[in-house]
Parts: sequence; structure tokens; C-alpha cells
Amino acid sequence: MVGIYSPSLITDWLVPGRDLFLTIHVLGIACFLYIIAKRLVPLMRAERDLRFDRPLTRLGRVLKFWLGQWRHTRYKFAGTIHILIFAGFILLAVRAFSVLIVGVSEDFVVPGLSGRAGHIYDIITDYAATVVFVCMLVAAVRRLVFKPARYAVPAKYGKGHTADAVFLLGLIAILMVADSLFSASNVAGHAQRGQPAEALAALSLPWLFQIAIGSMPLATLWVVNVTAYLVHEVTFYFLLCYRPFGIQFHVETSLFSIYFAKLERGTLKPVRWGVPDERLDQVKAFGVKTFEDFTWKHMLDFYSCADCGRCADNCPANAAGRPLTPRFLTIKARDYAFQHYPVLGKANNGKPLIGNIYSEDEIWSCTTCGACEEECPLLVEYIDKIVDLRRGMIDDGNVPQSLQKPLKALENRGNPYGKLEKKKADWAKAAEFQRTCSVKILDGDKSACTLYFVDSITSYDDRMQSIGRSTSRILSHIGEDFGILGAAEKDSGHEVRRFGEEMLFMALRDHNTDAIKASGVQRVVTADPHAYNALKHDYKDVPPVEHICQVLAREVRVGNVQFNRVENEDKVYAYHDPCYLGRHNQIYDDPRAVLDAIPGLKRVEMKRSRDRSFCCGGGGLMLFYEPKEEQRMGVLRVRMAAEAGANVIVTACPFCMVNIEDAIKVAGMEGEMSAIDLTELVDQHLVRPVCPEKNEELETVTCGG
Ligand code: SF4
Ligand code: SF4
Repeated sequence: MVGIYSPSLITDWLVPGRDLFLTIHVLGIACFLYIIAKRLVPLMRAERDLRFDRPLTRLGRVLKFWLGQWRHTRYKFAGTIHILIFAGFILLAVRAFSVLIVGVSEDFVVPGLSGRAGHIYDIITDYAATVVFVCMLVAAVRRLVFKPARYAVPAKYGKGHTADAVFLLGLIAILMVADSLFSASNVAGHAQRGQPAEALAALSLPWLFQIAIGSMPLATLWVVNVTAYLVHEVTFYFLLCYRPFGIQFHVETSLFSIYFAKLERGTLKPVRWGVPDERLDQVKAFGVKTFEDFTWKHMLDFYSCADCGRCADNCPANAAGRPLTPRFLTIKARDYAFQHYPVLGKANNGKPLIGNIYSEDEIWSCTTCGACEEECPLLVEYIDKIVDLRRGMIDDGNVPQSLQKPLKALENRGNPYGKLEKKKADWAKAAEFQRTCSVKILDGDKSACTLYFVDSITSYDDRMQSIGRSTSRILSHIGEDFGILGAAEKDSGHEVRRFGEEMLFMALRDHNTDAIKASGVQRVVTADPHAYNALKHDYKDVPPVEHICQVLAREVRVGNVQFNRVENEDKVYAYHDPCYLGRHNQIYDDPRAVLDAIPGLKRVEMKRSRDRSFCCGGGGLMLFYEPKEEQRMGVLRVRMAAEAGANVIVTACPFCMVNIEDAIKVAGMEGEMSAIDLTELVDQHLVRPVCPEKNEELETVTCGG
């Protein structure tokens, strides 16, 4: 009888073992390459995407997010299971390769893995196979019994994915069992023949199998051995070729998806990569209208989604019952790709996406809050895709009715309210305010070091003008030489751009850029995170910009500002992170440092805070568009603050203020909950110099020189 250590030596089958396994290898690899080639077809037809810069940074992110599985532990249990499976796969990769080769070359040993090193590696991989097997069982039980809500597929999105997921878990479990049985039968066979055999790792799956089959006759062991080997081979190649048809495709694509992921936060992709603004008028059509208008990277994202549901779990639009679930934006596009670019048959492309796989309301429902992107372990991008789809709709003249008026007003007057430009600085002219602070208008006659960029909502909304006045008083208090542009300032265009109106955004940006440059300021400060994000990421050639909370935090750190103790100690404050300050610009600590510097201020954290902050409903043009929803995002947010034990919500964004104050009323929580902007709170508590003669606070501060 032949030795049982290599199936390649089988001679009593119809086909010799070596030939059979070589054929399986060749067929398996050929099938896999063919499927991958077909999956690459749409990517070849896709729009350009320039993602080949900064290779070292990209490699660093691969190490962190792919190899280091950085985001997985944000969901502790599922994340730990995934990390164990991933680590097991990485460790088992060389073993799987060597097992496959043994079928055609009986003496094959992976270089460097002979002798002691090989034995240590075998022990490690015995445990790795065991851990992966156990994780498969746990994951299957979770999917079938506990069924976390985020895996559910609402009826409108088609059939659930549980069966597919469990089938794949089963295949991997079979692979682990086959591998372990192959090892166990080898070792048992060697032992029975009195040949030296390596010890298997105690309590591992192969070790348990060896105990179970060790006393079988040698001939039976041989059958177990070759059967296990054959099952391993067939399962391995079946899995390899099956994965590109579903959620497991991420095993192949995730490394590339992460390598090519977007590097900057807060930015938007250009209308067309490689086409400068000056040549945009030559672009035939803007945005994404058909599947082929997506970039190749965005298509790669569709392939890479693991359907884990984390994006949807954190999406405020989904939570509020809007017709948008980021996970299904991806799944629907992937299904479209699979159907229209089949592995067998011809590609059938070019259908409009809106009306076929996406609805208009779905695409307008996004607040661009970034929660989905922050959560996705595979760095799948959403905002750029959604904005591109909006660009496509706008290009087709498909603008929601309620947005037509504000967009027209922005075009004509530079603000969405259609108010006169000359009224832009009226908030700074109120007599009572001028008693406390005078604000320069940088209209050519006056100059300043710092520009306070006010933006439309703070300039024109009666309630939000208080933020403008508080910000000015703070800047005065710290001795900042500042001024505003007044009538020369137009809307920053931040939301206009995110609503897909690129040309209008460019007009607003160019106007503001010229006005800022003409003012001669050296830096810009704003109290509006949307303006901050626009000036920082969407504008070019403007002086450095800071949000007022950054200025304040610095002043607090160097001891330039002191605060009076809070008067009402019953108040408990919760800070709400505005999306465009927090997630998009990573400013989490500065506003908290300012709050914590106010003596006696009691502050609690909401469960969803910092990078998991929950959008209050979207800023800018979202105020003019109300998608269908079951409940208001703002109401959900206010309830979160109440659950945290707060009765005052502090924010640092005028749009958040509108949404939250409105939500307090809608939720019927007036009297129990209130909202205040950080600048207003600081302004109320600043220790100001006292006039010794009148024993009253010297409120009048001349701003700048
Ligand atoms: S950006 Fe925010 S609202 Fe839009 S899909 Fe992502 S999580 Fe949902
Ligand atoms: S996009 Fe990312 S977070 Fe969302 S389901 Fe897919 S893998 Fe999970």
C-alpha cells in the first residue's frame, strides 16, 4: 500500500491522483480568472478616478484598516469574530497553498517551513483552523437564531441574505474540517506504520479528529485521507469561484478597496476626474445617470461591501424612516452589476439608475452626515456617489420643487432666502448690539487681520443672528482685529455643492474668493461648520480658516479668557457634534474643552457622540427639502440628549440649532429641554472687564484697529 501522506500518489483510480488534482487546480484557477475578468468589465467602462497618488499613505491605511481590522471592534462581538476569522485566514493561507500543492507534488514543502519552523507553523495553523471553525458555528448561530436587526432585509429591498451567508459559513466550516481531517489522518497513518509523525496541537480540531480516527484500520484511514483531500480541493475552488457572486467577494476586493479609498475627509470628488473647473463647460453631462457613470473605484466599492449593515445601523436617514439605507444603495448597484454584466452572456448596460434602481427621494434623503463612511470597515464611500447621482438629476433638470426657489435665490441674490445683499450685515447694526461691540465691514475703506465669515443663515435668520453677535463679541473680547464682508459675502455654497449644483457653487466660491482676497485678511474665522468645511476643503487660495471653537479652545488653553460660574446648577449640558465639525473635520475636543472650562458646568455625553454623533437633520438646503420620513431626525436626537440626562443641548452650528430647537417643539419637550450655541453660552459666561466708576461691565469693545 502506498504511504498515506500524499494523494498525488493515488494510482488505483480512473485517473492518477496527480493528474486529477492538477486538472482541478487548472480548472479552478481558470474559472476564477475568467469570473474576475468578467467582473472587471464594468470597471473598464467606468469613469476615471485618480487614486494612484501617495502610495505610502495608502499602504499605511491597508496596514491599519485591512491587516489591522481597525474599525471592526466598533461592533465588539461581531468585530471580534471577524478579526479571529481574518487572522485565521491569513495564518492558514500558506497552509492552504501547501496542501493544494501536495496533491501534485508529494514532497512539496513551503520554503522556510521545513523542520522546526514548519512544526511551529503547523501547531499555529491547527489552532487557526479550529478557531475559524468555531467562529463559523458562532456566526451561523448568530445569523439564524439571534438575527441582529442590521442584517434584516426589508421586503422592498428583496429577499434576505441569510441563506447565502449561512451557506458560505458552511463552506468555510467544511474547508476547516477537511483540512483538519487530512492532517489528522496523515498523522494517524504515520503513527500506525511506526513512522515519525509530528504532534498535533492539543485540543485543536486535527488533534480531536486524530483521537477519533486514530484506531481505524490503515485502509480506512487512507480513504478518510483522500476523501478529506478531495473535499478540501473541491470546496476551496468552489468557494474561490462562488465568492465573486455575492457578499463574500470582499475577500478578494477589500484590500484594493481600502488601498484606493479616499484619503481626505470633508472633500467632494470633482465632477469629472482630470477635468479642471475651467473646462467643465466642455463636459457633456454632469454626474451619474447610468451605472457606467460611476467611477471604477465606486464600482469596486459595490463589489467590496460585506453587507454587514453597519452603515445603515448608523445612518440617521434610515433611523428616521426616510427612503434611504446606504447599505442598499450599494447592494442594489451590485445586483445591477451582476445582472447587467453577467459572467455568462453579454453586457446589457446603459439604463438610467433613477427610476430603475434608485428613487429620487432616496437620493435627496441623505444629509451627507458621513456616519455611514465613518463606520464602514471597508471604507466604502457614499457621499461622493450620492452627490454624483444628484449632479446627474440636476443636469437633467430634475430639481425637487421645494428647492427650486432657494436655488434661484442663490443664483440671483447669493443667499437661499432671496434677501437683499445690502441687508446682509443688518444683524451687526442693531443699536443694542452696537453698544457692546462694533463690527467693521471690510468694504475697501477698512481692513482687518481676520475675517469673520458669517454665511447666509446667521446673517438673515432672526434667531441665528444671535450667534453672529455672540461670535463678534467673543472675537472682540479676545482682542481680535476682525471684520465682516457684509454685502460682498455670498453664501459659502457648501450645501449647494452637496446638492449637486456644481456650477452655482463655483460661481459663489469664485465671488467669495475674490472678496476675501480683496479684503486683505490673513485668516478667516466662522461659527458655521458648513462654511468652515467649504472654505477649508472646497475653496482654494483663501487664507487659513478656523471654527470659532478652535479659537476659543486656544484662548482657554493659554488662559486668555475666564468664565463666570454657571448660575443654574440644575442645568445639565450635552454637546451635540455637528457633522461638519466632528466627523468631517475631526474637531471633537475643542468645543468640549471650552465647555469644561466654564466653572460648575455639568456636562454629560450622549451615547452617540463624537464620531458616532447622530445628525440632527441636515443643514443648508435640507431646511428647504423635507423627504418622507416616519419621524424627525432632530426629535430622535433630542430624545438621545434626554436619555443621557441632559436638559440643555449645546451645539456649534446654526443649522443644528434650527433643527434642534424645532425638534424640541415637535417632541413636546419645551420647558424640559433647551438648545444653545456654544458661542452664546460662552458669551453669557465671559468674565468681562468692569468699569470701576460705574461698577458695571465694560461691554463696549472696539473691534480691531
Ligand atoms: S451620509 Fe449620513 S444620511 Fe447620508 S447615507 Fe450616509 S449616514 Fe445616511
Ligand atoms: S457599506 Fe460597509 S458598512 Fe455598509 S454594509 Fe457594506 S461593508 Fe457594511
